[in-house]
Amino acid sequence: MDRAAILVLGLLAGSFLNVCIHRLPRGISVVRPRSHCPHCGHAIAAWENIPILGYLFLGGRCRGCRAPISARYPLVEAATAGVFYFAYAFYGAAPEFLRASFFFTAMLALVCTDYDTRQLPDEITLGGLVVGCVFAFLVPGTPVPALDAVVGAVVGGGILWAVGEGYFRLRGRAGMGFGDVKMMACVGAFLGWRLTLTTLVLAAFAGSLAGVSWAALVFARRAWRGRRRGRSWKAAAAAARASVGVFFARHALPFGVFLGAMAAASWLWGQGLWTWYMQLAQH
Ligand SMILES: [Zn+2]
Repeated sequence: MDRAAILVLGLLAGSFLNVCIHRLPRGISVVRPRSHCPHCGHAIAAWENIPILGYLFLGGRCRGCRAPISARYPLVEAATAGVFYFAYAFYGAAPEFLRASFFFTAMLALVCTDYDTRQLPDEITLGGLVVGCVFAFLVPGTPVPALDAVVGAVVGGGILWAVGEGYFRLRGRAGMGFGDVKMMACVGAFLGWRLTLTTLVLAAFAGSLAGVSWAALVFARRAWRGRRRGRSWKAAAAAARASVGVFFARHALPFGVFLGAMAAASWLWGQGLWTWYMQLAQH
């Protein structure tokens, strides 16, 4: 197929992905009602809905109330078109093109919904688990065969479930939602068990790094403010430490964002990383 046609297909898929990202966590149907401005209810006309161009024509503002439209809409459309384009360039007109396009766009959608609402909709996680299994079981030549997909799903979901259960027993409150468990079962069905383990390790590293950096940032800002108000170093540091505690009690880190990003990275580079690590472990 023509490369330009693939790009157009990707843009349309990206437009639909935006609808899913906005509606699925809110329990709204992705097919039935027309899109409306969330601020003023202005019904969005077909030409305003043209991927990327619609946003540019409108100057990034609603035609009804001039409220700014998030730049993420055209960015998601461009990213989805990029996924389709490169998957086609890499795999050609083969089932693997469809499998890759589905996987990367599903991860993109989950990253966005988790970031926005701390939700990972079942339609994507469980739906993705089914799609991954269909490819593994029914499409000959899929790089992840049936057994590997099943083991991957059990390992991915099982490890996160065990971590969540352990945290709950230890702290008495849920540290991880069941959405993460279902998401990793889906990732396992697409990547197989080796790259699923790789995903979990990378996401744990990235999540910890982000958590520590965020805590350091909050601490530094509060301590600096305390000093400017004439507090002693000791008092400013104590207040800043308390602020970090309050911050993390209020804001849960969206772990699905790290899982999604690292699952995509594992598809691309995980095999090399796995081989490198295994050689390292043998010496
Ligand atoms: Zn509006």
